[in-house]
Amino acid sequence: MLAVQAVHTGGPEVLKAVEVEVPSPAAGQILIKHHAIGLNYIDTYHRSGLYPVKLPAVIGLEAAGVVEAIGETVTRFRPGDRVAYNGTLGAYAQAAVVPADRAVKVPDGVSLETAAAAMLKGMTAEFLVRRCFHVKPGDHVLIHAAAGGVGQILVQWCKALGATVIATAGSKAKLAVARDLGADHLIDYSDEDIAARVAEITSGQGVAVVYDGVGKDTWDASLKSLSRRGTLVTFGNASGPVPPFAPLDLGAKSLFVTRPRLFDYIATTEELDESAAALFALLASGAVKIDIGQTFPLAQARAAHEALEGRKTTGATLLVP
Ligand code: NDP
Repeated sequence: MLAVQAVHTGGPEVLKAVEVEVPSPAAGQILIKHHAIGLNYIDTYHRSGLYPVKLPAVIGLEAAGVVEAIGETVTRFRPGDRVAYNGTLGAYAQAAVVPADRAVKVPDGVSLETAAAAMLKGMTAEFLVRRCFHVKPGDHVLIHAAAGGVGQILVQWCKALGATVIATAGSKAKLAVARDLGADHLIDYSDEDIAARVAEITSGQGVAVVYDGVGKDTWDASLKSLSRRGTLVTFGNASGPVPPFAPLDLGAKSLFVTRPRLFDYIATTEELDESAAALFALLASGAVKIDIGQTFPLAQARAAHEALEGRKTTGATLLVP
């Protein structure tokens, strides 16, 4: 079968299409024939070495497809089931073996493409707004890179929870996307001062929470944008990792900072199932829609990485096996 490997760390050029054997499911595993593979920013960290993985490796953490075969002891699925997963390395391939307790059934009415686009990004939004920080009606919420994969889902989920959303993005076209999803206020961080605009919008109060997947470039503005006892959720490094900071920086307004990972919020199968159920319920209600902004053939994963890192994508990106 076709797979895409990172042969060593580096830029998108280290991604190579290779032919590999179709794996067999061991006890507790299922073999999934992929229909669609989700591209995530974390894939670029695995490729670049920011998050080290043993190379060469087939990268990718998110896909949806149909169960082809099950290993011994598997009772959770049967061949033919429509399933999706996140968090198991090896998704950039036409098929993968995954522990059965790390996959979920895709409900009728949700396409496998939507599931592949939503499993990692949507469950990230789920834990960020419901568990990492609990967004409440009336909260002012600042969401960076709001037209991106996770960003678009965050905007819609926060609106569904009754928050007032301030969205940032790097272009007018991307801000129009955030506006159409329900964002109340828009900041173009390519030419506007984020903290000054937040102060203006919130009459100097600041926001209850900042969801910051941009990292290095927005860190200072995110801290400055918070209200007293506000929470900075720094959950990604699209512009590079945040440099070390002094706890004293938090003292002026008694701020909280957390640096969460999805996989600590879906560590058990119960947590995985609960997060997936919340996500699929919101998709079914229509409150959150998944925008598949672009698709690439799996063999062109390199071009997909170039587009993602070049800030040329909106919404989710799929690789088609
Ligand atoms: P996105 O689709 O949001 O793409 C990243 C976006 O970041 C770009 O489109 C761009 O939007 C913005 N950006 C700002 N500065 C830069 C820069 N210098 N280089 C590239 N992009 C930049 O990606 P994802 O939805 O896949 O992920 C969003 C973030 O969430 C990532 O940081 C990712 O690591 C993180 N994440 C963290 C998880 C966790 O568990 N902690 C789980 C899932 C995702 P614009 O042009 O508008 O600035």
